[in-house]
Amino acid sequence: MLRRVLIANRGEIVRRIARTCNRLGVEHVAVYSEADACAAYLRDAAASVCIGPAPPSQSYLNIERIVAAAHEAGCDAIHPGYGFLSENAAFARAVESAGLVFVGPRPETIAELGDKARAKAIMARAGAPIVPGSSEATDDAARIAAICREIGLPVLLKPAAGGGGKGMTVIDGADGLPEAIASAIRLAKANFGDGRLLVERYIERPRHVEVQVFGDSHGNVVHLFERECSLQRRHQKIVEEAPAPHLNRMLRDDLLKAAVHGAQAIGYRNAGTFEFIIAPDDSFYFLEVNTRLQVEHPVTEEITGLDLVEWQLRAAAGERLPLRQDEIEARGHAIECRIYAEDPAAQFRPSPGRILRVIWPRGLRVETAVEDGTEIASHYDPMIAKLIGCGATRADALAALRAGLAETRMVGLTTNVAFLSALLQDTQVKEGTVHTGYVDSALDRLAHGDDAPAAVACAGALSLVQAQPSDPARVSPWSAGACANPFDRVWLDPDAPLGRVAARCGRKWMTARLLDRTREAARVAVHDDEFIVTAARDSDGLWSGKVNGRSWSAVTMHNGIELVIEGRRVRLDTSHDAESFAESGVAALAPMPGIVVSVRVAAGDRVEKGQTLIVVEAMKMENPVAAPADGVVAEVRCSRGASVTAGQVLVLLSNDAQDNGE
Ligand code: ADP
Ligand code: ADP
Ligand code: MG
Repeated sequence: MLRRVLIANRGEIVRRIARTCNRLGVEHVAVYSEADACAAYLRDAAASVCIGPAPPSQSYLNIERIVAAAHEAGCDAIHPGYGFLSENAAFARAVESAGLVFVGPRPETIAELGDKARAKAIMARAGAPIVPGSSEATDDAARIAAICREIGLPVLLKPAAGGGGKGMTVIDGADGLPEAIASAIRLAKANFGDGRLLVERYIERPRHVEVQVFGDSHGNVVHLFERECSLQRRHQKIVEEAPAPHLNRMLRDDLLKAAVHGAQAIGYRNAGTFEFIIAPDDSFYFLEVNTRLQVEHPVTEEITGLDLVEWQLRAAAGERLPLRQDEIEARGHAIECRIYAEDPAAQFRPSPGRILRVIWPRGLRVETAVEDGTEIASHYDPMIAKLIGCGATRADALAALRAGLAETRMVGLTTNVAFLSALLQDTQVKEGTVHTGYVDSALDRLAHGDDAPAAVACAGALSLVQAQPSDPARVSPWSAGACANPFDRVWLDPDAPLGRVAARCGRKWMTARLLDRTREAARVAVHDDEFIVTAARDSDGLWSGKVNGRSWSAVTMHNGIELVIEGRRVRLDTSHDAESFAESGVAALAPMPGIVVSVRVAAGDRVEKGQTLIVVEAMKMENPVAAPADGVVAEVRCSRGASVTAGQVLVLLSNDAQDNGE
């Protein structure tokens, strides 16, 4: 067996691979860029090596540096994870030339299958149906236009070196064809450094079904059944499941056979995924092979009870596959969803930021490497977690996943959690009758909603319980000491007998009228709506409760509240002055509750964006608090040894421009 494996990746996938390494008694070495120096995934590695600055081209894609790191750390193998260098033949070759084991297919296999055109030719020879289209990739625009006309519209232009659904262009009308082709070539060049395109007939309303295969170096190949990944947005998977629902038996057998034959034809070694699309008439076509572990591998693990990373390590060590085909069984159903730091209300734009608090659901599998205080950097993929629901039936698995999403509490970051919840409640999704364009067609229904009034109601309830947590009878305009100003006539307001709380939500000011309070709940009105709000605080300062039966969580900040209601983030500014959230560039906030262990600036210091101002220790980790913008320190609001709460203002900066003087 392998002794010490370097994992050439970051985040969630490092944790996943490390888990199997630990179980098998294999040591693992982690690598990190300067941006990941404090990342949680480094914590239980035997060693971790810095491989360069934040941009992937200088760190996670730096082949020489990574191979050197493996040598320095005394490794005998490298696991590439997914993304980054996982499908890079030059990397696999460099690893092997350095005398190390590459946990993946042979470099030649990666090179051959990495070119979609060559992969299609290989599969056609092995007898698999392929999408009609060009037999060779080219970046000659005139040639591409001719092929488009030959195949007949609609067509799909696909970067030959592509991946992750990036850079694909559908052409359904002859108008503007030359412009569309030129732009697709540019896009491919920008994304993959290779402008060559493949032209394929565009199959309308297809399903995406893929087959997990495994090979060893003794010529054995097996499949581990199929997965359906039709829920995609812009050709990128967001929900995946195994087995594929409503797949007729013959079609399933044909797919599994096609994949195994294809893998046998090229002497495939290690884990691989053969991707297919199925047209509405049940004809199916080979798309491509992913020569690596897949993001969605957990659903296959859940239905087969196997550990795919273990199989990868064993195959890489030269062992035979642990099971024969007839010994591999699938049972039950599993569904995974990908949680991204992105904003569904803004075309799913990535939304980097810092997680203030996160509580993952119990009772279902969660694959993640983020925790309280984790910064989601804009340099990398915005996927932050995967939840996997399982059950005896598809309905059970879906229900488990929905419950898991509802239980997920992540404060401080904009995510797609609410969007995923809506998606998993969609009738067609529940019925399992979707195609790859379904999500985009249902987007308007899934991505919207305004939770501002409910959030303002929560803010009102919070102010009530914070004012007088113990005795509701005292929160009355008639009893002394009830509120900040108990005899103020403002409080004798029939529309708001317990007072009003104002908050700014975006540009809008909204008012919560506090109507009533019992020991358990507050009754609050916002506009014409009434809300019953419950609120309780945990020992780390996270508020949570229900607002009209829906779950909410919040962290109170110096001058506002970070709220999340069933996965949707709402930020409320309750300050009445100019100070605002960290993004406005004037306040550096504590990322999490902790102790200040270092104060590195004093009033009057000029600081640069990103410079460490304060270090907060929490959970045995030192967390640097960086300047959110260039500026001059106006005030340091904490001292060494002070304990601080999440979101507390630690340093105030004044605007740089005003201090430039002359
Ligand atoms: P594909 O979309 O090519 O079929 P997958 O669905 O398995 O393949 O997704 C691979 C994608 O995962 C990569 O293109 C990249 O966007 C993303 N990815 C790669 N590495 C990581 C990582 N460490 N953390 C999160 N996401 C990653
Ligand atoms: P990538 O390498 O980016 O994963 P794929 O070839 O696997 O590229 O395609 C990704 C997705 O794009 C598929 O899952 C499917 O939704 C869509 N797609 C690809 N080829 C076609 C096609 N010929 N017709 C219709 N949809 C396609
Ligand atoms: Mg693909």
